[in-house]
Amino acid sequence: MFVDPSRVARRLRVRGVVQGVGFRPFVYRFATSLGLVGWVRNDGGGVEIEIQGSEPVLDAFTQCLATEAPPLARVDAIEPEVIPPDLSRKDFAILPSVEGAVATAIGPDVAVCPSCLSELCDPDDRRWRYPFINCTHCGPRYTITRTLPYDRARTSMAGFAQCPGCEAEYRHPGDRRFHAEPNACPACGPQLSLFEPHGVRALARDPVAETLRRLKLGEIVAIKGLGGFHLACDASRAESVARLRARKQRPHKPLALMCANVPSAAQWARLSAAEAASLESPERPIVLLGKQSSFDGALPGVAPGLDEVGVMLPYTPLHYLLFHEAAGRPAGTGWLADAHPLVLVMTSANPHGEPLVQGNDEAFERLGEIADVLLMHDRDIVVRCDDSVLRVRPDLPAGPWEGNGGGIQFQRRARGFTPLSLPLPDDGPAVLAFGAHFKATLCLTRGREAFLSQHIGGLDNPAACTALDEAAEHLQTILSVRPAALAHDAHPDYYSTRAALALAERLEIPAIPVQHHHAHIAAVCAEHRLDEPVLGLAADGVGLGTDGMPWGGELLYVDGAAFRRLGHLSPLPLPGGDRAAREPWRMACGVLHALGRGEEAIARFASRPNVEQVLGMLLRGTRCPPTTSLGRWFDAAAGLLGVCEDMTYEGQAGMLLETLAHRFGACLPLPGGYHIDTRAETGLSVLNLYPLLMQLVDENDAARGAAHFHATLIEALTQWVDDAAHVTGIRSVVLAGGCLHNRLLSAGLRHRLQARGLAVFEAQHVPPGDGGLALGQAWVARASLRQGVI
Ligand SMILES: [Zn+2]
Ligand SMILES: [Zn+2]
Ligand SMILES: [Zn+2]
Repeated sequence: MFVDPSRVARRLRVRGVVQGVGFRPFVYRFATSLGLVGWVRNDGGGVEIEIQGSEPVLDAFTQCLATEAPPLARVDAIEPEVIPPDLSRKDFAILPSVEGAVATAIGPDVAVCPSCLSELCDPDDRRWRYPFINCTHCGPRYTITRTLPYDRARTSMAGFAQCPGCEAEYRHPGDRRFHAEPNACPACGPQLSLFEPHGVRALARDPVAETLRRLKLGEIVAIKGLGGFHLACDASRAESVARLRARKQRPHKPLALMCANVPSAAQWARLSAAEAASLESPERPIVLLGKQSSFDGALPGVAPGLDEVGVMLPYTPLHYLLFHEAAGRPAGTGWLADAHPLVLVMTSANPHGEPLVQGNDEAFERLGEIADVLLMHDRDIVVRCDDSVLRVRPDLPAGPWEGNGGGIQFQRRARGFTPLSLPLPDDGPAVLAFGAHFKATLCLTRGREAFLSQHIGGLDNPAACTALDEAAEHLQTILSVRPAALAHDAHPDYYSTRAALALAERLEIPAIPVQHHHAHIAAVCAEHRLDEPVLGLAADGVGLGTDGMPWGGELLYVDGAAFRRLGHLSPLPLPGGDRAAREPWRMACGVLHALGRGEEAIARFASRPNVEQVLGMLLRGTRCPPTTSLGRWFDAAAGLLGVCEDMTYEGQAGMLLETLAHRFGACLPLPGGYHIDTRAETGLSVLNLYPLLMQLVDENDAARGAAHFHATLIEALTQWVDDAAHVTGIRSVVLAGGCLHNRLLSAGLRHRLQARGLAVFEAQHVPPGDGGLALGQAWVARASLRQGVI
């Protein structure tokens, strides 16, 4: 054969999320279409390509590799190398994968793609109404994978041998299912079945049709999903929602909804184009949306007292089949353009705050008392992974590495995003960080990447602690990384701290304690790759301070591994200790006492049998530890305004207050609502908010009080930060901590601080609260190691 003397050759190393996403067949088709010869293969570094042809064509190929890549691929880098041409090569081939060091990442679980969806609704397709349809562009990944490299034998699909039809698709480089590891069809793949609560198979010819019938009767259905089970009911049936709440012992916490599509969601919630795009993104997060005015009348009990509701669209083929059934099993996907009336409550099945239910036997045991019927299947869930929750914030800039992700802020980062890495500014040792106590997540660094685990939850029960241990092990396994150091919260009693210390001893590596609020600020520094000193405003619930006190409203100077406390909120008493953090009326008593009006508490909280006892504690100063937490100032205000006396879920008082303030609308800060003083003995700047609460004590309009509280607090915090900026000369401000989940506070602070000429940074791609803390811990630990502090 004639060989063109102008033929040149290159080897390309492609890094990023390039395995298990249809990248090799894409390269094969693309190279073949350009008449190039060579090969492509997976290896420990990602994908390796060798191409030969004329120079301009090679250039075009290289340039288009990232832009034309399949939807789930993420190309982080292409490193070309010129090599001598191999004249014996006549075609382009996909070579077997190279075994060896694994340094690549598995993709997250993503929603069923449009091609699979149209097959699902095509009565002539062999996968018509098959609930486990998938291809290389969609389906489960992370939650079915035991270890890398990602191939079927290492997933929970290993037990399902492919039929000849599926096998042919899997082997054919031109097929959409070439090396789609979970590839399956009704003949060879997982199957659905419906069970009564105690494990007896339900009498049903068609599990999907029967599930829908039972939902419409008002029953509660446990539905096995990707990373766990959901508890579902018809959201329009108030008595079903109430029964679900009673059985789940969750009287008020907002429940998420699932609607067929954006037009259906628009019946219940107001949504912008950006919010619609987030809902429809392949990651399919729960998006927090403003309720329509008719919402609470039509869907009472779903999100009581709040003006936002979490909504998601179907993401597994099974979810789609429920809506397809409700629409009368139409052929084709035209029905997905219309609004549909079916709206389901879909809440994670994690009874008593324990981890998500994972196995089928476990489901009978733990959900048998809650669900009336269970829709199950025989594909195992290997990794628990909750739904992600985010909010679209038009005032936020686009993230530093995600062109289309700008303006979103995570409330919970899990399914669809785990285990995608966050890029770090520089290389460094592998560090595994253990998070804190609430909303636990882990973070493992590998080179320039940080991998945040899925949301694990509060570590206040043994099952959650075990889940943390398992997630730590699994993260190390799938990333094939052994940490060189561990990082943990400075609180000695947290389970996460004890787990880190035990592992450090076993591995004989250092364990680095990181102060809670230092870690909060550092997480934002890591996300925005800030390597300069910053002013950090930690607006938080609680974290142990360096003086042994519970901190949570802190102004910090942060420079990598080092931080200094510049100021704090004036302390509030916690009458009865931790109980006060769940009972805002106690915080209100503390404020009344401090204002010299303690006696008024007796009439105000007359229904409380122990109000005199609480006042006694305050008078004697016993069992009233002080805290500087901003979260407790929110609770105190909610208690004083009669908005919330007891909380049944974390953050409830603050969320109700935020909602009232939002409904009231904009207002001016109260004059004289705060003082900023420098405490002589410590030199710290203290922001005193008692004057604000003094003005709220006699407020009889809770919404107006809530609006004044927010406006004055924002003004006070802005002044406090701005003063510190003048003293230190630092112009970069980081906002972090659990209170930043409050959109009025976060947007208000951003707006006011920017107006003073300060650069403002917030958590966006990790949650601002404790769910993002592990990233900050890892970042501080790496800085400590780099600076030789450890
Ligand atoms: Zn697909
Ligand atoms: Zn098959
Ligand atoms: Zn915190």
